[in-house]
Amino acid sequence: MMGYGKPIVAANWKMFKTLEESAVYVEEFKIKILKIERVDIILCVSFTSLFHISSLLESGDVQLGAQNMHWREEGAFTGEISPGMLRSSGADWVILGHSERRHILGETDDEIAKKVRSAIDEGLNQILCIGETLHQRERGETVGILARQLDSVMESVGKSDPRKVVIAYEPVWAIGTGVNATPDQVEDAHGEIRNLLTNSVPSVASSMRVLYGGSVKAGNAHELISAEGVDGFLVGGASLDVDTFVDIIQVVEEHELSKN
Ligand code: PEP
Repeated sequence: MMGYGKPIVAANWKMFKTLEESAVYVEEFKIKILKIERVDIILCVSFTSLFHISSLLESGDVQLGAQNMHWREEGAFTGEISPGMLRSSGADWVILGHSERRHILGETDDEIAKKVRSAIDEGLNQILCIGETLHQRERGETVGILARQLDSVMESVGKSDPRKVVIAYEPVWAIGTGVNATPDQVEDAHGEIRNLLTNSVPSVASSMRVLYGGSVKAGNAHELISAEGVDGFLVGGASLDVDTFVDIIQVVEEHELSKN
């Protein structure tokens, strides 16, 4: 763990869970994580659940996030949600640049860069996702892709509070596939990301957290959190079940404990 801050374990529920399902999950989850002290926990829920879930999380042990936003504060953008709307619904965090938004919904580096800047300006914490496709990895383009995705946001990141901008390395081929990156692949990618940050934004780089995401489960969490440069996880599918997600958090808590 570089710099300051606890490791993060964040849930990305994607387009799952109605309001009722979210509330049932959160009531059970709150009790099961009472003894967790060494991990920052974030639940990134659907827009429609934010406001209600924020009232259930008032104690502050669990932070709340959204999964996307528009970069403008207001305007004629039918169906979009602004950073201020997220904040007023109780969100502390937002996921930006998730691969499903880049590759299925067509978001570009330029659009994501505008969102990154807007989240910083609005004081929202963000998890910025970057990562290569299988095709790009096989062609040896991984480092170039990570550099390109980071390049467009470096100027904003350099002026940010580094505790509020978290990078998630999420190889696209590992997301939702059941095939996680190996600890060696994760160490290499995280090392590259750390170098890119150190070269471009030296004043904040060492205080930024870099998470891994892609088919994390309780069974691989220990080897992945033990990989050099991993400051936590962004978890999709395995976060949808309370017990499975709590097991992953527990692995990270124990890993932190074992360092002391
Ligand atoms: C994600 O959605 O960010 C993710 C990592 O998904 P999964 O854990 O299901 O691979």
